[in-house]
Amino acid sequence: MSGSPSLDKIPITVVAAGSSARLHWRRRTVQAAVLIIAMLIPLSGLLRIDPVAGAFVVLDRQIWWSDFFIIFGLWLMLASGLVLMYSSVGTAFCGWACPQNTLSELANRWTYKLLGRRADVSLAGEKMKVAAGKNRLGNWLLLGLIILAAAMLFSLIPLLYFYPPDVVWSFITLRPDERLASSLHYIYTIFVIIFFVDIAFIRHFWCRFMCVYKVWQHGFKTRQSLHVAYDEARSESCEKCNYCVTSCFLGIDPRDTNMYDSCINCGECIDACNELQEKKGEVGLLHFSLGAREQSRSGWLLGRLGSLSARMKWTLPFSLLGLGMFAWGLVSYEYYRLAVYRADAEFSSSIEDYRIRVSNKLYRDAVLTISIEGLPKGSYVLSAGEVRFDTAGKVDLELNINNTLPPGLHRFLVQVQSADGWRDSYRVQHFVSKGRG
Ligand code: SF4
Ligand code: SF4
Repeated sequence: MSGSPSLDKIPITVVAAGSSARLHWRRRTVQAAVLIIAMLIPLSGLLRIDPVAGAFVVLDRQIWWSDFFIIFGLWLMLASGLVLMYSSVGTAFCGWACPQNTLSELANRWTYKLLGRRADVSLAGEKMKVAAGKNRLGNWLLLGLIILAAAMLFSLIPLLYFYPPDVVWSFITLRPDERLASSLHYIYTIFVIIFFVDIAFIRHFWCRFMCVYKVWQHGFKTRQSLHVAYDEARSESCEKCNYCVTSCFLGIDPRDTNMYDSCINCGECIDACNELQEKKGEVGLLHFSLGAREQSRSGWLLGRLGSLSARMKWTLPFSLLGLGMFAWGLVSYEYYRLAVYRADAEFSSSIEDYRIRVSNKLYRDAVLTISIEGLPKGSYVLSAGEVRFDTAGKVDLELNINNTLPPGLHRFLVQVQSADGWRDSYRVQHFVSKGRG
């Protein structure tokens, strides 16, 4: 009984556990998908970073901090989405999606295969227990090579965020390419060292003691967040059995989880118990629960729906606001930008000089025409009337006003027009004092 007459009328179907390893393979699929998505994001051009311009690049468009609606809208969507994730599925991100955990699990797997089941890289600094029959130089070397190969492979992913795919391909195939910065080899080597140390030594130590996500997540996690629940009523089945505990690679007893333990909701213990109970034709004693920790299995579905809708009530408005701002930012996005500055400080001359900065934010060629309206001909010199871009970039022009203008206030417009029809102008108030002119 849920305690609510209306909720009690909703029929509940309890689905029996299927194949005992179903969570394991679903999790592996999600982990692989996350790594593939991490590569597809820069490869598809959805998001990159231009280290030279110091800007994010979305679909070949530079996103500047001044593109407020895009930046703030995206941030609002991400922040509200993360809060919803923290408070509902809790640590499931760690167990199912986080690349750090994926790499640590892979490293553990190779280590067990080559050095034995008890060859743990201990988080407490204990000595590794290598199986006597496997403690051979060949096994150690092979493990080192596998970890190095993994480090070299995974180090290519961050490179894809900083360089176009064809440049990274030139780097991999050792093809000469003038776009390859000499620092790229250095940056790549640093990445390989970081990944190697992480995979070889740090592994789950990061998850337990260093992860910032976990700190945030503990701030929003509640007793209702996703967790492993135990069927106490059938506890006699656990006599002389410890299988779920030994299957947990974080050393947790899943029959007694609490809010702030290190459980990452991977579900390996659930699979383990299901595997045992399946032989007796029964379902396992462990299951995921989203709702009050005391809730019984029969109330799981109602608890999950109620719990999710309660959280969405206050995160959804922020997500929608962020989505709206983001969409407006994209609709009103301008490919070009004009800015005019008084150049007295920069060029250490008088305020007769102005600096006109025109920018192309799109990674394609462009032609911008610049003109001055409102000043008599012969009273100024503009360093160029046209700017050609091969790709995204900024060009500074100089506008010098000579001393033929009479004293007083002069208003003029700096106008810019692109070949594809975009226009913008900047109004300048120029004052000539009596002592000049
Ligand atoms: S695997 Fe299942 S039966 Fe065995 S101890 Fe764990 S919960 Fe109990
Ligand atoms: S208790 Fe179960 S779900 Fe939690 S980390 Fe251990 S095996 Fe994974």
